[in-house]
Amino acid sequence: MQTGKIGVTTENIFPIIKKFLYSDHEIFLRELISNAIDATQKLKTIASVGDYKGVLGETTIHVSVDKKKKTIKVSDNGIGMTKEELDKYMNQIAFSSANDFLDKYKDQTSAIIGQFGLGFYSSFMVSDKVEVITKSYQDGAQAVKWNCDGSPEFSIEEVEKENIGTDVILYIDKDSKEFLEESRIEQLLKKYCKFLPVDIAFGKEKEWKDGKMVETGKDKIINNTKPAWTLKPADLKDEDYLKFYRELYPAGDEPLFHIHLNVDYPFKLTGILYFPKIKSNIEIQKNKIQLYCNQVFVTDSVEDIVPEFLTLLHGVLDSPDIPLNVSRSYLQSDSNVKKISSHITKKVAGRLSEIFKNNREEFEKKWDNLKLFIEYGMITEEKFYEKASKFALLKNTEDKYFTFEEYEKIIKENQTDKNKTLIYLYSTNKTDQYTYIDKARNKGYDVLILDGQLDVHLINHLETKLKDSRFVRVDSDVVDKLIQKEETRESKLSVEQKDDLKSVFNVRVKSKEIYNVVFETLDENDAPVIITQSEFMRRMKEMSQIGGGMNFYGELPDSYNLVVNPNHQLVVKISEDLQTEAGAKLTENNVVRKRLKEEIDFMEQEHNKKKADEISQLEKDDLEKLRKDLSVVENARKEVLESYGTANKVVKQLIDLALLANNMLRGEELSVFVKRSVELL
Ligand code: ADP
Repeated sequence: MQTGKIGVTTENIFPIIKKFLYSDHEIFLRELISNAIDATQKLKTIASVGDYKGVLGETTIHVSVDKKKKTIKVSDNGIGMTKEELDKYMNQIAFSSANDFLDKYKDQTSAIIGQFGLGFYSSFMVSDKVEVITKSYQDGAQAVKWNCDGSPEFSIEEVEKENIGTDVILYIDKDSKEFLEESRIEQLLKKYCKFLPVDIAFGKEKEWKDGKMVETGKDKIINNTKPAWTLKPADLKDEDYLKFYRELYPAGDEPLFHIHLNVDYPFKLTGILYFPKIKSNIEIQKNKIQLYCNQVFVTDSVEDIVPEFLTLLHGVLDSPDIPLNVSRSYLQSDSNVKKISSHITKKVAGRLSEIFKNNREEFEKKWDNLKLFIEYGMITEEKFYEKASKFALLKNTEDKYFTFEEYEKIIKENQTDKNKTLIYLYSTNKTDQYTYIDKARNKGYDVLILDGQLDVHLINHLETKLKDSRFVRVDSDVVDKLIQKEETRESKLSVEQKDDLKSVFNVRVKSKEIYNVVFETLDENDAPVIITQSEFMRRMKEMSQIGGGMNFYGELPDSYNLVVNPNHQLVVKISEDLQTEAGAKLTENNVVRKRLKEEIDFMEQEHNKKKADEISQLEKDDLEKLRKDLSVVENARKEVLESYGTANKVVKQLIDLALLANNMLRGEELSVFVKRSVELL
């Protein structure tokens, strides 16, 4: 027997490693099985070139748990190791690389370590003793057993072993008992080994016999050695892709379509990406892509490897060229990762463009489910925007789809305002904004429907991209002002009359902070009162709701314009009735008010001619008195107007009608309105 000390500098490296690797102990199994696969494939290669003369028998890798002995065994029929190799790999190379690793990552958290291919050495994370019994494929090789109890001391002895290959036996330590549960091992095998290229057996197949589940003599193979992404696209039908999708996500909705990736140069990458249907809530869709390295599962968090919007896709990426033994933040700056990332982006855009070009009808059908994904990409990836802007669609309120270019042509003539800005009208809800959409359409405008989760962001983005263009929601202003043209219309009411009516309406408005009464000279056939909400304010509020960082706006209450149309006959009538009822008082008030205003104006001018210290106290007092008198007169006027407004049912009725058209009249107010309507009839 040979004994010796492993080539490590630290006296006892194991406690340190165990502590460091705390978070991801489970990877030991993946590492051992990867080694077994390598050994098996090496033997196959050697046999295929004729260097191995023996029979290449069964290659299945066996994993077993012995709960009594507290061991886990991984056995392969691979190339095995000679005594010299065992000494070299186990004692020198494996351990020195572990040493390097410790040196390098001493100061970092354990988070990164899970990704590090620690290899064979990771067995010590869960064991206090490890045995390797191995027999090389080489002619006349002697089987040997390596034994190490977790201290740097090891022993190698000659043993009897019938088959070539390697058994690794872990004596599980007391902190790692969970790994002696078959269900736990099964779970790990499913997670890491589901698609490994060599059969892996764990336990036996079971079957029903005499009313009981009993084990058969047949090995239970837990993996699919030829997953779809490793096959040639030409050999796969749509059903095969769908079947594989189900294998990955048994509970998933059917995907829209897939992309089969297959790159050899300048990096190696294979995989299949699926486009899921995404209707809303992008967050829960993220991180379903699984990353593999030569069919070994590595991780399902690929956010540092592919651009964020691509994490919405589902499927598998397999690349040996993604460096996983580095910290995640370093990943993004790695040149291979960058290349892979831009390659995938290009492929995804290319595939979408291909479907758009070859089958627009199908593309349109799928658009509503694709839109969120594409918009996400357009907003967050400049390169993707460039491509996607050629096939991204806009849908109008009549469910017709247009590319950006097509749409621009359609609205150019009618929807360019006097400043040569192209106005894209949109609605976020066809039912709620029906009246506005209807008005806009009657004016010959087209209205888009933008009701998606990312549409507010998209609109902001497009306004920076499309030249001289602006998006305006149909209800953000009265139809004539949505797109301002070079035209003026006469108002039937004078400035003074409108001023008076403002008080009349104001008194009937629920809350002056929320509703701002304004007059717009509309057509006499337009509605008497309309409620609008400023595009700017609303968008800011929406952005802050979806986390655009504009909390200030989010805190503000909603505010609306109550637009009164001075050309509508009912509004004119209210003004005339006011005249009939309170005309004498108002005229009298006006005479006094006018005089006071003139006097104040005159005095102010006089004061302005003098320096501040030349104005006497008496003069100051006079002016102050005049101002007070004016405010008394104005208040009196307001009182007259407000008492008229309070008594006037039509004013309230018109406001309520406007609210009703906006779905903003509810509860008690609604029932009062209905009652009043009956009375007025
Ligand atoms: P890595 O697999 O990254 O090279 P390991 O520490 O896991 O590092 O293994 C070191 C070496 O030991 C391997 O490269 C291989 O030559 C040898 N080895 C490990 N496990 C086996 C095995 N099951 N059969 C044959 N050789 C093995």
